[in-house]
Amino acid sequence: MSQSSRSIVVVDVEWFRHKDKKPIVKEIAVYGDVLDSLILQPPRDIYTFSEGQRRSFRWLTRNLHGLLWQEVDYPYSFLTSFVQSVLLRYSDRSFYAKGLEKCNHLSLLFGRHFSDLDETACPKVTGNHFICKSGQEQHTRGIHCARNKAAEFMHYLEQQINVQRLRAGSRYFRKLDITHKRNCNIAHQEGDSPSQQRANPEKD
Ligand SMILES: [Zn+2]
Repeated sequence: MSQSSRSIVVVDVEWFRHKDKKPIVKEIAVYGDVLDSLILQPPRDIYTFSEGQRRSFRWLTRNLHGLLWQEVDYPYSFLTSFVQSVLLRYSDRSFYAKGLEKCNHLSLLFGRHFSDLDETACPKVTGNHFICKSGQEQHTRGIHCARNKAAEFMHYLEQQINVQRLRAGSRYFRKLDITHKRNCNIAHQEGDSPSQQRANPEKD
């Protein structure tokens, strides 16, 4: 599929979160025509959070995404501008993310509906194939990279769309074939009539 023909946008995030507190987005990746991603500086110093929250954040770094709290690409305030630019650029597209929790949070962040890839047969990401901006080896080699996941999910969705197009195409061509045969029969029958009409006077 050519890039300009895409009607979908895939978004994924890696975050710092603790229980039901609002998650802090650490990495966000958006795949529309191209793959864009940011690694954000959290909005507050880690020591302004409770010990319980800091424990959860450290656990996420060690066991999941490998992103360090202090790792910086853009200030957190840039997230709003980034989201606005995505909304402007892809205003007429359908937005996708994987997992109900992410869909809910991203819907709030973007003010748009997100369709949940978990409601399709979209498989989990199994490897990291895309170069991430993070300098952390644990992150860039692991599967919990927003950039990597957005790219893999887009690849999956494009395959699904191509399959649907092929099926729709074969139905269309079957219909064309039936219409063509029907038209041929009508033309054949219509073609018979004048000759029969011509034949009859000759008999008279
Ligand atoms: Zn990454």
